[in-house]
Formats: sequence, C-alpha cells, structure tokens
Amino acid sequence: MTHHDDAVAAFTQLLGANGVITAAADQERYVRDWAGARLGMPLAVVRPRTTEEVAAVVGYCHRNGICMVAQGGHTGLVKGALPDSRTPEVVISLERMTRIRGLDPLNFSMAVDGGCILEEVKRAAEEADCFFPLSLGAQGSCQIGGNIATNAGGVNVLRYGMMRELVLGLEVVLPDGEIWSGMKALHKDNRGYDLKQLFLGSEGTLGIVTGAVLKLTPRPEQSQTALLAVPSVEAAVRLYALTRRRCSDLLSAFELMPRLCLELAFEAAPQLADPFDEAYPYHVLLELTATGPVDLSGLLEGLLEAGMEHEVVLDGVLASSVAQAGQLWAIRESMVEGQLLRGEHLRTDVSVPISSIAECVEQATAEVAALSPTSQVIAYGHIGDGNLHINVLPPAETPAEALPALFERLERAIFTVVDGFDGSISAEHGIGRSKQAAFLDRLTVTERRLLAGIKAVFDPDDLMGAGRIQPASERSSS
Ligand SMILES: Cc1cc2nc3c(=O)[nH]c(=O)nc-3n(C[C@H](O)[C@H](O)[C@H](O)COP(=O)(O)OP(=O)(O)OC[C@H]3O[C@@H](n4cnc5c(N)ncnc54)[C@H](O)[C@@H]3O)c2cc1C
Repeated sequence: MTHHDDAVAAFTQLLGANGVITAAADQERYVRDWAGARLGMPLAVVRPRTTEEVAAVVGYCHRNGICMVAQGGHTGLVKGALPDSRTPEVVISLERMTRIRGLDPLNFSMAVDGGCILEEVKRAAEEADCFFPLSLGAQGSCQIGGNIATNAGGVNVLRYGMMRELVLGLEVVLPDGEIWSGMKALHKDNRGYDLKQLFLGSEGTLGIVTGAVLKLTPRPEQSQTALLAVPSVEAAVRLYALTRRRCSDLLSAFELMPRLCLELAFEAAPQLADPFDEAYPYHVLLELTATGPVDLSGLLEGLLEAGMEHEVVLDGVLASSVAQAGQLWAIRESMVEGQLLRGEHLRTDVSVPISSIAECVEQATAEVAALSPTSQVIAYGHIGDGNLHINVLPPAETPAEALPALFERLERAIFTVVDGFDGSISAEHGIGRSKQAAFLDRLTVTERRLLAGIKAVFDPDDLMGAGRIQPASERSSS
C-alpha cells in the first residue's frame, strides 16, 4: 500500500465509503471552478458530515504530512479552492454540512454549519421575519464557510458591511485537527485580540470554518428599485452622495453599469427587455429598503427629481412591482454571464476612495486603449463601496495563445493606476493564486513578517491551503 492508499483507507474508515471520492470522473466537479478553470487532481475528495469528522480527517492529514484544501461552493474567483497541480491535496468539501443549528429572533442571530448555502441561510432568516444581508450573484451555490474564508462582499455592503461585519461567532477546525469553538452570539465582546476575525479573509489557510453565528437584521418590509441613466461615471458618484444625503440610511445597493453591460446582459438573457428607448452611456441600479412606516416611493421620486435638477440623472425607470424589480436585478446578474459568453477576458476587482472612482476609470480606460486600442473596457460594480470591476474584453480575433501575455500587461497597467489612488488590487475576491504576484509585490517588509508569523502560529507545517495568499517560499524570506 502506498502512503496515499493508506490515507484513502483511513478516510473511508472515518467517513464511510460515501464520504470519500477517489474516481477521477467523480472528482471532476470538485476540480473545476465556476469559470471552468482547473489546476490539478486531488489525492481524494472527502465529504465529512460533522465538525468531529472534519477534525478527524484534518488530524490524520496533520499527523501524516498530507496537504489539505477546504472547498465550499467553488464559486471563488481566484482559484483558491482548486486542488494544486504539483502537491496532491485532500479536498475537504463541506457540502454535507448544511444544518441550520438555531435562530434567535430576539438576539437577531442564527447559528449555521459552514457548508450551508448562502441562499438557504437567507431563506431561513426570512422565515423568522429576519434578514441576512449578504447578497451576491453566486448565492445559490456559495457556502457560508466560503463566504467567511473570502470575507465576501456583494451588493449590500454599503449598508450592512462585508462578511467580517456579519459574523458574531465561529467554530473552526485548526490545521492540527483541534476544534476551536468561538460560537458566541454576542454583539459586543471586547476581550483582547479578536481571534475569529483572523479567519475572515484567510482563504482556508488558517483553519476550516465548520460553524458560524451570523448577525441578522429585521426583514425589510418594503423596497424600491430603480435603474437610472446617468451621463458619466462622475455623475454616478455625485448621484451616490446625493442619494445617501436624501434617503437617510435606507440605501442598500448602488451599482454602476455602462451601456455595454446592458448589451452583454441581453446577449446572455434575450428574454430581458431594454427598459430604455435610448442608449445612455451609464446606468445606476439602486435599491432602498426599510422597515416601518417610511414613504420609500416618495423618497425615490424626490431623488429622481433632485438628480435631474443637479444634472446627474438623464432618465429613470422606477420598478412598480416586485417582478419588475426582479427584471432590473436580472440585468445586473446576467451581464456577468454575458461576459463569459464573449470568451476569455480580463477580470479585475479593485477599490479606490469613492471620490476617485471617475478619475480611476478614466485613467485605466486610457491605459488599456494605449496598450490594446480595440479591446473593450467595462468598468462596473459596487461603487457605493469604491469597488470596481475594470474588466477588459479582448478583440475577438486575438489568438488564444496571445491572451495570457495581453491580460498580464493590461492588468499591470490597471493596477498601476489603482496604486496611484492608494487603492486595493483585490477589493472583495481575495488573493488565492490569481492575485498573488500583484499582492506580494505590494507588501512591505513589515507586512510580510507579520503575515508569515500568523501562518506559523496556526499552521507551521504549511499543510492547509498551502501556496495560497503567501507561499512558503515568500515566508522564509521574511
Ligand atoms: C457570478 C458570481 C458573482 C460573484 N459575486 C461576488 C460578489 O459580489 N462579492 C464577492 O465578494 N464575491 C463574489 N463572487 C465570488 C464568490 O462567490 C465568493 O468568493 C464566495 O464567498 C466564495 O464562496 P464558496 O463557498 O464558493 O468558496 P470556494 O470557492 O469553495 O472557496 C473559496 C476559498 O475559501 C476557502 N474555503 C471554502 N470553504 C471554506 C471553509 N469552510 N473553511 C475555510 N476555508 C474555506 C477555499 O479553500 C478557497 O480558498 C462571485 C462569484 C460568482 C461566480
């Protein structure tokens, strides 16, 4: 028996035959991400059902020097959950850990397994007249553990914060198999270092999130959605400030979409109707939500009028029903699919101060035009968070083998522009493997040393999520 056969036999004993997948054909869906990317094949895919089973598998791997990678819904966009191509890793999938452990409507909190699908968590919260605000396009597949590991953002961040602000407690299996239980449901807990926050955004490199206590809010009783046409990015940013001032704290989403995004959405979902008669350069999709007796439609109509007066709004569609609001949101969601249909393209996820967004888009667009005049730039995203996806669709005739070098040049140019505004090269998707070089290039010596020190405390043998965020070779030089 080889070392690997021994491991598979041990996992089968721990989890039963159903809990271990070794046939290459059956592993297929665990080795590809949402965009179809793949790297290597795993030593095995294991599917524990409980925290104790996760701990048993991790403990075995730790004692036997076997590398592991946690996997949620594999919707991550930086290749972090894909098994490595050089070192065989055990994929630890949380797909069978889907229990809602409890919900406390008076405390506005709920406890869940790490493998719960985000959409199901949202549904369970709504059934108790509560609301879990994390909302993103992948919510039908991504898991709470993955959302925590990536510190996910989405469309409601401007009002409710990122995942980091939505977690009260955590349960984590540490890289040596020990279970750390921090499943507290406290809204205030100021005892020294906040250990749970270390796992938020750690991308599976410090431990496997098996449970979480999530922070809820009251379920919004009403919402108003509008798609407004605006003349420029600069106008969209001014409209954002106007909306915040006029609509109190009731703004829950504010998304920028250039015209090309609408066209991509219609290509992906031809059943969607263009809500405008004219082709405007930019659009803002915004949503107000509230509980209690608030006149949201009055607020929105007043905003539209004020926006026109200030010349930051050219035209607008206010959804008159939940179904119409759904149609407007479907445009936002389908445009991501539309980009995929156009083939390989450069995706970025950057942030700058909100006040610098317009200048950043202008400079990035000019840099891309200088390097590749016939490429198409689409700059869209969560501009209420200063978060833009400055994506580039290459000319259709570009040979496939020329794309990686082109994307590298374009990405470097866009990141240099972002640096000019003291921005971030990864606003919400994390580092994984895709953003690693750019991330490492921008770390100071002190940051490298501190990051390496944190990893050394949790996982000195580098067995969990090895090679993601800061690879061992980088750590030894810090
Ligand atoms: C259409 C689409 C839209 C998206 N929109 C957004 C958006 O608006 N905002 C945003 O932030 N992201 C967005 N994403 C990215 C993605 O959905 C998030 O990163 C999500 O949080 C990943 O969750 P997952 O369960 O799929 O994790 P995976 O992809 O399975 O894993 C991601 C990383 O987390 C680690 N991990 C997974 N589960 C665990 C666990 N239980 N414990 C420890 N580590 C774990 C993995 O090892 C990997 O490094 C989008 C993706 C798609 C496909």
